[in-house]
Amino acid sequence: MTYKIRNYSYFWKNFFGVARIVIIGAGAAGCFCAVLLKRRFPQVQVLLLEAGPEPMKKLSLTGGGRCNITNSFEHVRSVDEAYPRGAALMRRVLRAFGPDQTISWFEAEGVRFTLQEDGCYFPLSQDASQIVRTLSRAMARSGVELRCRSAVRRVDALPGGGFRICGDLFTVDAGQVVVTAGGSVRRGFLSFLDPLGLEQVPPVPSLFTFNVGESALRALSGTVAGKVKLSIPGTRFSASGILLLTHWGFSGPAALKLSSCAARWLSEALYCTPLRVNWLDISQQDCRSALETLQGAHPLKTCANARIEALPHRLWEALLGYAGIGLHLRWKDLPQPALNRLVLTLTDFPCAMAGKYPHREEFVTCGGVALSEISPRTLGSKRFPSLFFAGEVLDIDAITGGFNLQAAWSTAQTVAMSLKID
Ligand SMILES: Cc1cc2nc3c(=O)[nH]c(=O)nc-3n(C[C@H](O)[C@H](O)[C@H](O)COP(=O)(O)OP(=O)(O)OC[C@H]3O[C@@H](n4cnc5c(N)ncnc54)[C@H](O)[C@@H]3O)c2cc1C
Repeated sequence: MTYKIRNYSYFWKNFFGVARIVIIGAGAAGCFCAVLLKRRFPQVQVLLLEAGPEPMKKLSLTGGGRCNITNSFEHVRSVDEAYPRGAALMRRVLRAFGPDQTISWFEAEGVRFTLQEDGCYFPLSQDASQIVRTLSRAMARSGVELRCRSAVRRVDALPGGGFRICGDLFTVDAGQVVVTAGGSVRRGFLSFLDPLGLEQVPPVPSLFTFNVGESALRALSGTVAGKVKLSIPGTRFSASGILLLTHWGFSGPAALKLSSCAARWLSEALYCTPLRVNWLDISQQDCRSALETLQGAHPLKTCANARIEALPHRLWEALLGYAGIGLHLRWKDLPQPALNRLVLTLTDFPCAMAGKYPHREEFVTCGGVALSEISPRTLGSKRFPSLFFAGEVLDIDAITGGFNLQAAWSTAQTVAMSLKID
């Protein structure tokens, strides 16, 4: 039987016979899953359909082109902190295939890694294309059949079991299907799954930076505050870490982490909300003690010259201004009410988010196929036992630091190990 894929014919052997697997989406999860499946079942055809002109386009851009491939998890308190959505499922799949296994797998393929102080793993080459080449080589060696420019438009369940997968110029029937189409906030992105009637959690962006209206802060563009707590007042959402002041507002780990934790809430608030900054991530009492120590140690120095070292000079001076304290005032002359104002400015600084950064820069999508549809043990559909999901297409997403790619590796591995061939 002959199937047309784009402008050439594709001869699909054993059309109604031996089990075969179709994977939809050749990103990190799809390519990794394809290699594992083909190594596990060398005799089975594994067809990988990719909408774009080449596989792993996004993977090649990760980590600013360096690919933050995973994380040691040493700097997060729990899996819940790393995965605002999907933590319970991630705990399970990480037990089977976690960061150590990811590193070992790629090392066995010849990649060497470096572990940064912040727990992020990068290839020693600092080159994401090395990871893409490694997976491409492994796919070619194991015999994965990759078809690019083959966007899937529709997946239907066949009455006797299996699925019919249709693109613009091809139709393929498959015994087992793995969906690894990634995530997007684009309207109708997962509409090819609609015929199956699976519940989808509406997609919204995650991991974006904040447009902050405060012009005096924007003037501090390029300033880095090392340990900040950024929060949304009146909610449970807060995030600690480095904050980067930019010409449009806030970026850096603290802002990205908050955008992740509060992704859906912020979408509903249309990205306009009051914010609070604790510039030192300490209590008001500890802040007061630190200022009194400073006052005692440097009574004759000006408030601008003797500062809390954790804050860069330019930011410290700006914050003194917000507290209404003259830069030339000596510490010994600082009146109590001014000290009180400084404590509040340092620990509970009010500002407002006035939108996301206007240029599209979201790194991941919050939402996707609802986890209630999926068996957490196999990542197979509860309604269609031979339909599986891995990667960002699931309603799983993480903060920055390599956790999102780890989700792709772990879920792909679980699917590859769960899928059964009769
Ligand atoms: C700029 C950027 C940098 C990032 N950096 C990091 C990082 O350093 N570390 C980290 O952990 N995470 C990072 N991420 C997130 C990470 O890249 C993703 O979470 C991860 O790539 C998800 O892998 P995936 O295979 O599930 O999806 P994807 O990589 O998105 O792959 C999905 C594939 O499916 C294809 N597809 C979609 N629909 C169809 C269809 N209908 N038919 C056929 N094919 C289809 C797409 O074309 C795509 O190739 C970054 C993301 C971005 C955008």
